[in-house]
Amino acid sequence: MAAEEITQLNKKYGDFPAHALLETFILKYKDNIALASSMSAEDQVLTHMMAGVNTDVKIFTLDTGRLFPETYDLIAKTKARYKVNIQIYFPEAKSVENMVAEHGINLFYHSIENRKLCCHIRKIEPLRRAFEGLSVWICGLRRSQSVTRENVKVIEWDESNSLLKINPLIEWSDEMLWDYIKQNNIPYNPLHDKGFPSIGCQPCTRAVLPGEDIRAGRWWWENPESKECGLHTKEGKTK
Ligand code: SF4
Repeated sequence: MAAEEITQLNKKYGDFPAHALLETFILKYKDNIALASSMSAEDQVLTHMMAGVNTDVKIFTLDTGRLFPETYDLIAKTKARYKVNIQIYFPEAKSVENMVAEHGINLFYHSIENRKLCCHIRKIEPLRRAFEGLSVWICGLRRSQSVTRENVKVIEWDESNSLLKINPLIEWSDEMLWDYIKQNNIPYNPLHDKGFPSIGCQPCTRAVLPGEDIRAGRWWWENPESKECGLHTKEGKTK
């Protein structure tokens, strides 16, 4: 899609409140739109809003095989609460076996290249499969989460996957997010109450100290500019 079309879409829908934006796009794209949920607090808010529009709406998540037990519990709890089908995509077993045989089970600590390889096999490849047949993916990015997300718009064109990407919560602050979760009793990962603002795979996530950047607990051994798993880049594109 041309940059001018994306600019026009942002002019038309960019100021819509999150719920109205979701409803508009879900009704317009029906089976061709999905939430790519990492079970984050943001994605739980989006799931709550989407289930209120249509419980048949597509939601999927990626099981990398290295998630926290609390995340698996949250998947089950969310499905039970909202009666939505959260489709789970797994990495290709052979690719994981080959990677671990060559680089070791905890390869990600050894180099950025190894970490990106692991993210590619455990996240990017399953994500590509999950995207097949879609026109739009819904994403829980917020601008305040990371220096790599400062320029992200509400609506973007994901060149790598030829998909529209919408970020309904892009302007939401931490306070707005947690007020909404508490007011609506939305299930969330209990690790958030133990100093984990951002939760990914268990070996690549740690708690942060008061005052630390909210992304400091992800791939903490890398510098901030490297800290995307490949699902999102500075331009909001996948790679
Ligand atoms: Fe692998 Fe860590 Fe990336 Fe998870 S976050 S896919 S364990 S490198």
